[in-house]
Amino acid sequence: MSTCAATNKDGTPCSNSTAAGSAYCHVHQNAGADTEADEHGFGVMLASALAVILVTHFLLQFILGA
Ligand SMILES: [Zn+2]
Repeated sequence: MSTCAATNKDGTPCSNSTAAGSAYCHVHQNAGADTEADEHGFGVMLASALAVILVTHFLLQFILGA
């Protein structure tokens, strides 16, 4: 067991022991996973929104321009 590699919100290094098989304690292990999931979800949402806008744009162009 070594010390957690994460940093606390106040800027001090986390002094918790690492969870088994991880560089982070159980607190920061879960926090990191949550952050990654949120960023991924936001990217997918943004890509979906752009796709809908593009499809709508080309459909309108096709209908109005035909
Ligand atoms: Zn930690």
